[in-house]
Amino acid sequence: PRQFFVGGNFKMNPIDRATEASLVGGLNKATLDPTTEVVIAPPAIYLISVKASVRPDVAVSAQNLYPKDSGAFTGEISPKQLVDAGIPWVILGHSERRTIFHESSEFVAQKVRAALDSGLKVILCIGETLQQRESGETGAVNEAQLKPVIAAIKTAEWKNIVIAYEPVWAIGTGKVATSTRAQDTQAEIRAVIRKSVSATVADEVRIIYGGSVTANNCKELATQPDVDGFLVGGACLKPEFANIVNARL
Ligand code: 13P
Repeated sequence: PRQFFVGGNFKMNPIDRATEASLVGGLNKATLDPTTEVVIAPPAIYLISVKASVRPDVAVSAQNLYPKDSGAFTGEISPKQLVDAGIPWVILGHSERRTIFHESSEFVAQKVRAALDSGLKVILCIGETLQQRESGETGAVNEAQLKPVIAAIKTAEWKNIVIAYEPVWAIGTGKVATSTRAQDTQAEIRAVIRKSVSATVADEVRIIYGGSVTANNCKELATQPDVDGFLVGGACLKPEFANIVNARL
């Protein structure tokens, strides 16, 4: 069985250290299902303070990296710097980075390669837009986003990857995917891994769902066999994040 995984992507929130501290303080006091792997991804400027103050059973993730060890890359953060800061995870390929910052799937794959080379684990985000879903391209889009990553990494390295299926139309919209839709798409993603990587990796890799997950809708989604957890945006900034961690209780 795959360990349930819940990530909290703070995105560019909150805007002050006091709120950051109260978010972490709330999480530290919450009762969390000990069988769920929990990872929170604050903005880069808060990584070190959150790492120092969060409970030890919650891991910390960056939201991005630049695929070089060091050098003249103004404004960027390297995988080596994250590892040195004690940060074990990084989110890569988020749709906001693909769209707003024009990151190609090839560039995302370079970042995955660099992350793994430094010993980081990766939450790899993929997902289709509304227009792509309506024109029947969902499967092809997800496969195309995965392909460069599949080519860039070895079979044994998939144990350090969690795939986050985040349909763009569901992110921040309040329009959560139905549990059937999430299940069908995630089963299809697992089939791509089975075909292009291996049956063992397909059986073992966690595929989590992201997009308007809340305490109200998480329980039904969590019953689906190919939904191995969640990547949570807005709701991870609220006390209900603990309920989402506990979706399977
Ligand atoms: P929301 O939960 O706010 O829809 O965001 C999802 C997301 O993008 C997590 O990475």
